[in-house]
Amino acid sequence: MDSKRIIVNPDGQVVPCCFFANSLYVSKQHGYPKKFDIKEYDFGLKDELTLYSLTSAETTTDPILNSYIEQEGELNAHNNPLHEIIDHDWYHELYASWDDEEKVSPICVRNCTDEV
Ligand code: SF4
Repeated sequence: MDSKRIIVNPDGQVVPCCFFANSLYVSKQHGYPKKFDIKEYDFGLKDELTLYSLTSAETTTDPILNSYIEQEGELNAHNNPLHEIIDHDWYHELYASWDDEEKVSPICVRNCTDEV
């Protein structure tokens, strides 16, 4: 967020970065899976191309991503102006989550945690 950039997905969802954009968009194409069982995936070409297994796991376990999904209508550029979306409660929830080990998104941990 320091770069003061956001991403608008092809469906109008306004997200903070490409990491959230990809996970959210792919998961949405699969109907936001509600459960993840590794035995259900054959990890063949289709699963690999769509990252279905990864995004399914994220959709079922990530509190920040799930909070976004619950409020996605309000976070869509087709429904609300950008200046209102980037000041939406979800963005404040995201910022606060960075200081909360129990709430931080695995997406943020995986992609933006500094190694020490
Ligand atoms: S900290 Fe989270 S929201 Fe920010 S760029 Fe990294 S993955 Fe995206």
